[in-house]
Order: sequence, then structure tokens, then C-alpha cells
Amino acid sequence: MRLSRPAPGEIQARLRAAYPDARCALDHRDPFQLVVATILSAQCTDARVNLTTPALFARFPDAASLAEAPQDEVEVLIKSTGFFRNKAKNLIGLGQALMARHGGLVPADPAALGALPGVGQKTANVVLANAFGVPALAVDTHIFRVARRLGLSKAPTPEKVEADLCRLFPREDWIELHHQLIFHGRRTCDARRPDCAACSLLDLCPTGLGKIKDPHLGVTFEASVSAGQSSAVTSQIQMIGSPQRILSLVPSVTELLVQWGLAARLVGRTRYCIEPRWIRNTVPSVGGTKDPDLGRIRDLAPDLVILERDENPKEVAEALTALDIPWLALEIRTVKDCIAGLRELGHRLGLPEAAAPRVAALEASLKGRRRKGPRALALIWKAPWMSAGPDTYLGDLLRQGGFTPIGPDRYPVLSDDDLDALAPEVILLPTEPYRFNRRHQTELQKRFPNAAVHLVDGQALTWYLSRTEAGLDLVRSL
Ligand code: SF4
Repeated sequence: MRLSRPAPGEIQARLRAAYPDARCALDHRDPFQLVVATILSAQCTDARVNLTTPALFARFPDAASLAEAPQDEVEVLIKSTGFFRNKAKNLIGLGQALMARHGGLVPADPAALGALPGVGQKTANVVLANAFGVPALAVDTHIFRVARRLGLSKAPTPEKVEADLCRLFPREDWIELHHQLIFHGRRTCDARRPDCAACSLLDLCPTGLGKIKDPHLGVTFEASVSAGQSSAVTSQIQMIGSPQRILSLVPSVTELLVQWGLAARLVGRTRYCIEPRWIRNTVPSVGGTKDPDLGRIRDLAPDLVILERDENPKEVAEALTALDIPWLALEIRTVKDCIAGLRELGHRLGLPEAAAPRVAALEASLKGRRRKGPRALALIWKAPWMSAGPDTYLGDLLRQGGFTPIGPDRYPVLSDDDLDALAPEVILLPTEPYRFNRRHQTELQKRFPNAAVHLVDGQALTWYLSRTEAGLDLVRSL
């Protein structure tokens, strides 16, 4: 089938409306800081780079100091960005080259920039565009994926995709388009699970509409995706019959099943499935969420095991498949995933009427534009500090509550310096999984006197599906 290429102007108009805040995500004050940050961003997230650069620039603020820097000192400062030995060597070489050839200043000439240590064509384009306003369209992994999914290019390499995009879009739009496509790739057109149902480009996108194979994943998306169903849940279902013997490996799902009157069909749970409390006496435990006793599960003969991708390792699903036990895996990273999860569980368990009112209430609560509120950090562990990143369920709850979730994605370990560099305006200390208490709240309040530090109900905040409404109410009440 031959498909007409989507209109570039229409695509950019919609991206402009969807991401009015699209901009360079690397914190920098001048061309020198940008070129350093861009070198560090290779194989590393921008959030992690932004945590690293404040200390680096405090110690080595310009090309002259970097040219003289001891390699081991630079390595320590940039270690968390990965490939730190090579990057440290390149940064020192960069400082020396800038001093020797350009009087310590970053040149605005593509050839001179590209000749600097650690600066390839992509880095040169990023620096030219963001530091000097020179139109350029550096194709990174997000742009490569999104452009090909949208049918803007079929080219097999980033360089050729860049050439296609530069042909399609006016030169004066390149810088803006670069940021918009990256934002779209990060927030909507995820590598593994694009949120086509929520995508403002769906009707223009041959991949989202299932007209072509996804060039990234190599599969054709189902029509249900474009009909408004989340890909976060359906694609994880292996096999479902009419389950009468359900085993839940997810604490909040266990609670949800009881809320839906399915306690009599529950044949097993993990030791962390402790709500409501009485199920500890009536439903047998099969061990932990990460390492359940597979022999015990087999003996309980469930006709459905419910999993969640963050909660349970994929090896558990693989072992269940080997044992020929049907399983269903959810993947909950947003409130929208909860809506899809409720709908799907209601359908699969034969209880759509139980799911419907909650789905409707949650959909209504998501309507309306969210303001971009205070920078909020949700900590989930101490010694070492760990946070829940912007791409987690907790991060999305914060977003829906009007906050701007900060920190690296997923569940990163943060050093004390990382915490300081994040400079949160709001800190949340849930009472689980770590048992944060008043003493921790007081300690952090002293450390961040200008931040609002809240000790909050951990179950309301982290038990998706069974307590999503409570989580939204809690966050919005802060
Ligand atoms: S419809 Fe889906 S595949 Fe297409 S751009 Fe949107 S999220 Fe990506």
C-alpha cells in the first residue's frame, strides 16, 4: 500500500500546540557550558547531566580551567554520566583545543566546532542551534524514531533522516522542530509503548493507525490502539479464559479485587498484599513480589496470575509461561494507565460494571489543562536516597496535581549533591515503601528551608488502581 506523506505544516502546528514549552533540556548559561553538557549527554539522560554539571562548572567554569584539569578529578565529577574516562579525556582536550585555537571561546563555525575533541556532527548541530541560533536539526534517538513512525522518512540512518526532515521543513523551523520532536518522543511516542490513544498526531500517523509496521518495534499496532485503548495494558496479556482462581502478585490489585467483591476467587497473594488486613488470614501467601515461590503457585493451580511490570520481574512471567499458567501483566506509569487497567481488568474478569464508574470518575478528573506548578521531588528511599522520576506513576500523580515532577526518570539513586542540585520547591516523603517519619521531615526541612516538605500517606500515593482517586485527592490537597 502506498501512503501519502503527512503534511509537515500540520504536524508542526499540532506539535507546537502540544509542547509550547519545548526547549533545550540541558541546563546551560553559555556556549561553553552547552558544549560540555552535550558531550556528557552521550549515552546518558539530560536529567542526569543536569544533576552533574553544577558541581563540574563550579570547579571548572571555563575552557582555561578545564584545559588544566586533572583527569581523575574530572572523572569523579562526571562519573554518574557513564563512559566517564573517555568523556573526561574529551572534556580536557576540549578545554585545551579551545585555548589553543579559539582564545578560550566556542567557535560558531560548523567545521571548527566539529573538529573539537568529543564534538561530532550531532553535538555541533545542537550547539550551533541552541547557543548561536544557527538553524540545524540534529537527529537523536527520539527524532529518528518519531520521524519514521510518522512516515516523514523511511531512511535507515540518523544522517539520512536529518536530510529528509531538512528537505520537508522550512529552515527557520528546524530549531523549534528539533525540540518538539524530542518532547513528543519523550512524553508520548515512547520507544516501547507509544501512547497513540492520547497522541494529537494519531490521525496523521500511519504507524499509530496500524497502516504500516512500526519501524521501531517491527510490529503492526492493533486497531484497538487507535480506537482509544491504551497500549500499556492490552499488549501484555498472554492468555485469559474466564478466571475463577485468581492469584495476584500486586498488592494494590489484590485490594482492588476485594473491593470488586472477588475475594472468594482469590487463591493466592504475595506477603506484601496486606490490604484489607483480613486477607492475611484467608488467602495463602506465595512469597515476595520479586521472588514468589513458583512451586507454591503451581500447587494453587490459578487460572490467572496478575502481574505488574515494575512490581514483578519479567522472569516471573517467563516462568509462569513455562509452567503453562495464564498471566496478565499490567504496566502502570500514569493515571491514564490506571484508567486503561481498570477497564481491562473489568472486562477480563467479567465485571465491567464495577470498573465503569471509577473509569468515568478518573477520566473526568483528568480533564482540563494542568498548570506547570512547583518543582516537586518524591523520595521513596533513604540511605541511599532514591526518588520516583517524572516517568513513573508517582511522577504522573504529581503532574496531575499541578506540580512539576523533577529528577531523573524511573527510580534513580541520588547522592546528597544530586539532591542539592535538584533544588526542589516541594518534597514528598511517603510513609512507604520507606518508612519516612517526622524526624526525616524535620531533617529535610532544615536542609531545604525554602521547600515545603510533606510527610504523606504512602499507600494513597503509591497504590495505583485501588487508591488512585485517593492519590489524586492527596496531591491536589497539598
Ligand atoms: S500516533 Fe503513536 S506512533 Fe504515531 S506519533 Fe503518535 S504516539 Fe507515535
